[in-house]
Amino acid sequence: MQDSFVHKGKRKILVEYLREKIGISDENVLKAMNEVPRHLFLESVFVVFAYEDRAFPIAANQTISHPSTVAEQTELLEVQEKEKILEIGTGCGYQTAVLVTMNAFVYTVERQKDLHDFAQKKLREMHLRPKFQSFGDGFLGLPTFAPFDKILVTCGAEILPIELLKQLKIGGKMVIPMGKTDEQILYRFTKISEKEFEKEEFGAYKFVPMLQDRNK
Ligand code: SAH
Repeated sequence: MQDSFVHKGKRKILVEYLREKIGISDENVLKAMNEVPRHLFLESVFVVFAYEDRAFPIAANQTISHPSTVAEQTELLEVQEKEKILEIGTGCGYQTAVLVTMNAFVYTVERQKDLHDFAQKKLREMHLRPKFQSFGDGFLGLPTFAPFDKILVTCGAEILPIELLKQLKIGGKMVIPMGKTDEQILYRFTKISEKEFEKEEFGAYKFVPMLQDRNK
């Protein structure tokens, strides 16, 4: 399947909705979301709804996040070009594609093999290459590539992943939903020094859970 004028048109309307109704103001986020063809990440039955603000099932009982959630999380991350960003929860690779399109150096981890493989193939086909794509447990981060300017967690953690905070640069930010499985609060941690963090809160969301260990 290709990107078409119809898809581009629908995407433009979605981006205006993100700006006007959701209140996204980071032009780089809006520009990237206007460029990345979200429909190419979805199963064919959902393609017609790709530019509605909806989440959809992907492989391994996971979901692709709402476009508004992707936009809000990315905006909170305050992404700058060439920053090293660690993403936990590659899923189908849509959020990864948005970050790569923003010219960030992206390192992404997924614990479901099917999704890791799917995203790798998809991103290659689209010539949107993250720096490194890992099949592993995101609770451990990627110590070989640390420290990171930013860390984005796209699944809900019941406990704070301490390893990830360790892998953040001083001045770096981590955006992470935390809480029980039925609802999480979105937080942004800013690393002030090795031991001090500022913690901000951004409302309730529902993410798939962050689980430990790799699955197969
Ligand atoms: N970024 C995706 C969201 C995918 S949903 C998007 O663009 O829509 C969250 C993903 O986190 C799922 O694919 C799930 O398998 C993954 N996940 C859950 N726990 C994880 C862990 N410990 N390490 C890595 N990935 C994890």
